[in-house]
Amino acid sequence: MTDFLIATNNAHKVEEFKRILLPLGINVISAKEAGVDLGDVVEDGTTFAENAKIKALSAFRKSGLPSVADDSGLCVDALSGDPGIYSARFGGEDIPQTERNLLLLQKIRESGSDTRTARFVSSICLVFSEEDIIAVEGICEGSIADKPMGEGGFGYDPLFIYEDGRCFGEITGDEKDSVSHRGRSLRALRDELLKRKDVL
Ligand code: IMP
Repeated sequence: MTDFLIATNNAHKVEEFKRILLPLGINVISAKEAGVDLGDVVEDGTTFAENAKIKALSAFRKSGLPSVADDSGLCVDALSGDPGIYSARFGGEDIPQTERNLLLLQKIRESGSDTRTARFVSSICLVFSEEDIIAVEGICEGSIADKPMGEGGFGYDPLFIYEDGRCFGEITGDEKDSVSHRGRSLRALRDELLKRKDVL
């Protein structure tokens, strides 16, 4: 069994990574499980891909373990792609997500735009060494609900309606994985890893 350190303190992301990679024989261990202090990483990239690489490289340098990171977020067309790479901090670092979601709806109303389309993006970077790096991305198209729906998932899930009409706040984890941005990026990662006889 291969162990990858996941460079996040977000328990929901750890759960999604484990759910999709475990059947491949890849065990994702959190920083806590590995006894690694990820510290504060300055995510000063200008794209999801750059930030994923910054996080994965930093975790690799601290732990010496193969390290994987996801940088993800919600891009709303009425807000010209915001909050995008700033999704985790939208409205301030410390406000509850329920308030952040209401703020997003308010900003869309204030934009005056009728456009509700949006997409979730997940960039994943896996670092085996300074020279051996895999980068993949997954995108999930949908739209923004008029009000939060459901208690499932995390983050902006209660606001995100997948293109078949189902809200991410109202579906199971397995259902979300089958269509979500992270499900797609992790399956792209799996496909890359399947080409690597030295890893799996
Ligand atoms: P990151 O940890 O810097 O990549 O921040 C990602 C942020 O984007 C999270 O804090 C969520 O607000 C949002 N996000 C990313 N993926 C999802 C998802 O699957 N559902 C809901 N919100 C998400």
